[in-house]
Amino acid sequence: MITVVSITLENEMDLVLAHKRTMKVAEKLGLTMSTQTTFATAVSEIARVVIDYSDSGVLTIGLEQQKTRYSLVACVNFDPDIQFTNSDAGFYYAQKLVPEFTFTKGTEQSEITMKIGIPRSLKLDKLKITLLQRYFEDLEPLNAYDEIKQRNISLHKITDQQEEELRRSKIIDEQKTEFISIASHEIKTPMTVLKAYTQVAKSTSEPISDKLRDLLGKIDLQSTKLMTLVLQLMDISKIEHGSLEYDRKRTSLNDFLTAQVQVMQSILPHNELSTNLCADVDVMIDELRMEQVCSNLIGNAAKYSGKNTNIRIFTAVLDHAYMTVGITDQGMGISEDNLNAIFNKFYRTEDVLKTHSGLGMGLYVTSKIIKDHGGRIWAESSVGEGSTFFFTLPRV
Ligand code: ADP
Repeated sequence: MITVVSITLENEMDLVLAHKRTMKVAEKLGLTMSTQTTFATAVSEIARVVIDYSDSGVLTIGLEQQKTRYSLVACVNFDPDIQFTNSDAGFYYAQKLVPEFTFTKGTEQSEITMKIGIPRSLKLDKLKITLLQRYFEDLEPLNAYDEIKQRNISLHKITDQQEEELRRSKIIDEQKTEFISIASHEIKTPMTVLKAYTQVAKSTSEPISDKLRDLLGKIDLQSTKLMTLVLQLMDISKIEHGSLEYDRKRTSLNDFLTAQVQVMQSILPHNELSTNLCADVDVMIDELRMEQVCSNLIGNAAKYSGKNTNIRIFTAVLDHAYMTVGITDQGMGISEDNLNAIFNKFYRTEDVLKTHSGLGMGLYVTSKIIKDHGGRIWAESSVGEGSTFFFTLPRV
């Protein structure tokens, strides 16, 4: 059926709408006044019986084409539990009024269809039908009740559209995560081989020139950077899938931090790393994941600071349950507006976009690891002077 108008049948006020709209459709099609009235009366009778039994019926008025001839059709759908008999006066009379009347009982919905043929002389065609549909789309509300009803329908439409958009963006997000997961796995394998060959070449006992040794060192450094990015991408897809796993062990916090600072100092020869650790405590940590946290925070401290600046790693007792670890740099700092956003996935501040390479994944992964360890992470900063990144860990 080609739908022209649809009306929900909830209460008596809808009877007026059903009657007037049916009359209007019949009138617009050019049917005679007596046909308009007969058809509209039959539709109103059925609408009334449905409203007597339920408030969830739907009337659809439209057109049906059989070969070259069209019929005006009114279809009323309603709850299958409603049982009509000829003792329902409206049901009985409506059958007498229209030439074609069918009652179909379904499992989900029952349906009453009323049809009346449209004379060929009215020369109904596709264009006229489209114009008719437009006319009813733009039709002013019949009364205040109709206006509220129409507004309600448009609100429902907007909600449906928003839900659909949300559903689509979720699918796109899932596809993106899936892509990141597959791409990072695919890149990781050749990267591992490349790195292994570079290591082998670097440690060869055969004589190689200084220039070649220097080049091998550069290849090794860049492949390590690339590998870090690939591993971060893999972590992101693990976070999205909820499959970031931890192998926690009781560890001395001071020993762990001292070892991390030593390693990072050898990687960052242009910065001076210092520690100021208070009395040692044990923490339950996944060492590999916490190494990632330290290397990201200390690495960022160096990356966003000038050469020969200091980076201080300290601990403080927050309360009897938590220890705080802080990393202070003397770098460019972060504006107040960005202090929370930097922990979001792929977020990078405007001022570093053109000056420093990066993908904005490190702090997102870092904050997830800290939170999964039962801690909290935040940053304090003043632009041009430096930043301090803090994280807490529960004491054993
Ligand atoms: P990336 O460094 O790859 O951009 P991160 O997630 O590690 O990704 O950091 C997100 C953003 O936070 C950085 O792009 C930078 O704008 C800001 N940022 C992080 N650490 C610092 C820091 N120590 N000093 C100044 N800005 C920082």
